[in-house]
Amino acid sequence: MAKIKQLSSHEAQKIAAGEVVERPANIVKELVENSIDAGATRISIYIEDGGKQCIRVVDNGCGMDFTDAQICFDRHATSKITHVDQLESIDTFGFRGEALASIASVSQITLITKEESAMEGTKIIIHANNIQEIITVACATGTDISVHNLFSTVPARKKFLKATQTEWRTIQLLFNAFCFDYPHIHFFLFSDGKQLLNCPITTTLKNRALQLWEPSIHNHLLELHVDDSALSLSGVISDHQQYRYDRTGIYFFVNKRWIKNQHLSSAFIKGYANVIPAGRYPVAAIHITVPNNEVDINIHPRKEEVKFLHPRRVEQALQQAVKITLEKNLSQHLKKDITFQPAAFPYSPPFNPSSVPFDRYPLPSASFNTLLHAKIVRASEADIPTQLESTEYEQTSLMVNSSPLTLDAPPVENISKSTDIYRLIGQYNTTYLLVEKEDGLFLVDQHAAHERILYELFSQRFNEVATIQLLFPHIITLSPDDITTITPHLDIFSTNGIIIEQCASDQLIIQSLPVHLKDQSINDIIKETISWITNPTSLDEQELKKTLNNKLQAQMACKAAVKAGDILTQEKMEQLLRDLEKTANRFSCPHGRPTGWLLSLHEIEKKFKRRT
Ligand code: ADP
Ligand code: MG
Repeated sequence: MAKIKQLSSHEAQKIAAGEVVERPANIVKELVENSIDAGATRISIYIEDGGKQCIRVVDNGCGMDFTDAQICFDRHATSKITHVDQLESIDTFGFRGEALASIASVSQITLITKEESAMEGTKIIIHANNIQEIITVACATGTDISVHNLFSTVPARKKFLKATQTEWRTIQLLFNAFCFDYPHIHFFLFSDGKQLLNCPITTTLKNRALQLWEPSIHNHLLELHVDDSALSLSGVISDHQQYRYDRTGIYFFVNKRWIKNQHLSSAFIKGYANVIPAGRYPVAAIHITVPNNEVDINIHPRKEEVKFLHPRRVEQALQQAVKITLEKNLSQHLKKDITFQPAAFPYSPPFNPSSVPFDRYPLPSASFNTLLHAKIVRASEADIPTQLESTEYEQTSLMVNSSPLTLDAPPVENISKSTDIYRLIGQYNTTYLLVEKEDGLFLVDQHAAHERILYELFSQRFNEVATIQLLFPHIITLSPDDITTITPHLDIFSTNGIIIEQCASDQLIIQSLPVHLKDQSINDIIKETISWITNPTSLDEQELKKTLNNKLQAQMACKAAVKAGDILTQEKMEQLLRDLEKTANRFSCPHGRPTGWLLSLHEIEKKFKRRT
């Protein structure tokens, strides 16, 4: 039964359509959308030479009858609307009725199509909008449409086609997006005669991701869900251990449409701040659902971009959802109630946590608790503690008050109440702590972990970190230029517990330091800060201050943290693990290196060929 009607030119004019066909991927998109609109549940895409030679899309949708097959190439031929008022309510992709017309004008198309009720189908060959051949054929229900020799009729446009590889890459991304958007459709992708992807119908995005993404990512996918009446988010994202060097693996769908939105991407990536290294990007497929009147999908001719009514709200929700999802995942690695079992090895003395209240456990970083409330005390320069080693000193002379340290870790829901038994095996290569867990061997980098603990302490409680006033203040000599550069920024140091004053045109005097810092390292810190300030930067005063502050805190954390190569006692190791477990952003050090890493029992058994 014929379904296509001709739009009046008046109506057509009102629909100011953009150029549809710029590159092969645009054609693939139009053809696949037509297949989806036709109710297909199985769509195969065949590409040759990145789409320059041939793009073929075969579907099992409703097909067209003999009449429709002929007029579908006419401009403004559409079965989807008859009046422009319907644009608002349309929920199919097509509606302009011009995709096939535009494609036909720049290529040669072969169309084979049949409706389910028809005995036979129709085959049409059309070149530069002229029908070359039209016959009836025996064929399956659905539509098989091939676009050959793209831009053969317009050589000027052909020149603008990019390298085959680039066009192919764009098609791949589009294919992935369709797969994520329509898990209930079975998709195939072929290139130059080879089947590259076969993605059967599935019910979850995670399964889709497993069909599409590289196997190394399979154990690193997390599901993300937020359900709110005004906004819902659902998707699959990579964890903190897997990342790529570009952001092309991040897909967003707004109300079922694949869109690109710079601000959303930035917000999403911000959710991974401090979790994966800078310049590395996660992969994700996220569906965002908002009420239709809160999003404008008509700002782009191909509807690849959208405008939200409340963009900040969406961005913040996304960033927060990512943070919480990552946090939840890590809390499964490092459960809240860590209990250590006596180690079986002779070098690991038994430890019974229940006999020692955590708050008062006389260990290095337990002193963090006390530091929060300690007042400035006088000490000789030689006494300034710097590392975990120094804490006996802190315990005796600095402790003023003691209360548990609770850094503002993001709320972690559903932390298992079960007390996982962990067994600290010991220190390996004087750098890594080895922890036996039920599901594998957990390795912690002692420097990265301690650095993160201190960084969070400095950045969240900097005004409560205890400082030591130096008995013999430390003098630093710099060039007068450097002095001029640094003096306007001395307040950043003072808010971090480093009191510096200028005492000559080329000298600074350090009056006090946070208890963790050595006066030696302050020289490096000051010199590095000067280089950050003098680096050409487009930051305004406020941003510069913030950046400097963060860098300073990271630098302080780095200098004060235990180093690789430091020998740690069993007790210190245990305390480090406990502190890490309570720390926000604990997946990575402030430079983005991981703090811990699980070698799963499964992987170990595979190595020993106990499993396949
Ligand atoms: P639009 O999708 O905007 O309606 P197109 O030029 O893309 O315009 O397609 C014109 C018409 O051709 C569609 O409205 C539809 O009726 C028909 N058509 C195109 N592709 C298919 C297909 N794969 N299966 C069934 N009908 C199709
Ligand atoms: Mg269409």
